[in-house]
Amino acid sequence: MPIRCEIVSQDRLVFEGEADIVIVPGSLGEMGIMPGHAPLLSTLELGVIRVKNGDLEDVFTVTGGFVEVQPDIVTIMADAAENVEDIDVNRAEEAMERASQLLKEEQPTDPDKYLRIEEALKRSNLRLKTVEQYRKRRLRSRPPGMGTSEQD
Ligand code: ATP
Repeated sequence: MPIRCEIVSQDRLVFEGEADIVIVPGSLGEMGIMPGHAPLLSTLELGVIRVKNGDLEDVFTVTGGFVEVQPDIVTIMADAAENVEDIDVNRAEEAMERASQLLKEEQPTDPDKYLRIEEALKRSNLRLKTVEQYRKRRLRSRPPGMGTSEQD
């Protein structure tokens, strides 16, 4: 019997399906959740969620949140989560560019602002790195100045 997995973010249902194992970035490290797991509630760090079902694996980025485990269902309540196949690379690159620019301009006099920029940098970096590492649909570069196209 597989375990049910639901990933919800503040604005939508990101994933629902069955899994043999769900691997999440728990606050105490990577956690693998299999059917029959003891009930558990944990916070999540920014990182990667992997949902494995037979030969299939779905990969998601998550920027933080909670995971609730019951023996037959794992529910992930994410601040933001995206399937790696759906990540908008241009958007993440722009977010990273914006944050890097702000980090250069802002001297770390206002710690809150500085932290917010750093968090934005971490989110965009996570999205870009995860696409590089896990996306099956490959990216193909266009000539300089023409951006990046996504190919099947
Ligand atoms: P941006 O500055 O581009 O909005 P962000 O890191 O501030 O990026 P979040 O606040 O983490 O964005 O997320 C807001 C919403 O946008 C969430 O639903 C998230 O899943 C989605 N999202 C953010 N960046 C991307 C991306 N590059 N591709 C797809 N969805 C994204």
